[in-house]
Amino acid sequence: MIQRQSGSELYSGIRVLLLTMQIISKEKIYSWLEEVKDPEIPVLSLVDLGVITGVSLENESIRIEMTPTFVGCPAMDMMKQEVIEVLNKHGIENVSVNISFKEPWSSDKISAKGRQALKQFGLAPPPSGNLFTDIDILEHAQCPRCNGSNTDLKNPFGPTLCRSIHYCNDCKEAFEQFKPV
Ligand SMILES: [Zn+2]
Repeated sequence: MIQRQSGSELYSGIRVLLLTMQIISKEKIYSWLEEVKDPEIPVLSLVDLGVITGVSLENESIRIEMTPTFVGCPAMDMMKQEVIEVLNKHGIENVSVNISFKEPWSSDKISAKGRQALKQFGLAPPPSGNLFTDIDILEHAQCPRCNGSNTDLKNPFGPTLCRSIHYCNDCKEAFEQFKPV
């Protein structure tokens, strides 16, 4: 037990050393940040959601840039805290999180993996491109079950700001779509 403890101390010591040598890659940081999920969609990580917009190493601290999906998103503080906790858990003590609005988030920032996760979760992924002004996109959302577009918009405002409710005429079931923004 004692040996194990000292081993992990040594390990975290090495981590700090690696960090100061800037050997920890951005990719590694991103892969750790995949552990932080959207509080409303537990299958979707903040990375796949496109909310993590920057990772940089500054001296001995890691600086994370986050762009909220919606201005004033109430979950933002919680997500910010989780980002810090996850990196702390991986031995990175000095983390600063900066909320950035310089480039607004859009649903096009959701990664291919994120779109797949949404679909498996039963949420229609947002249509890509800048076609969201076209009402047809909202009125004929693609059903995540059968991929058909024989669907009707039931309510543009679902349980949260970012979802709309649709009904699939083929599956005879309702589904939600992650709204394109
Ligand atoms: Zn269907």
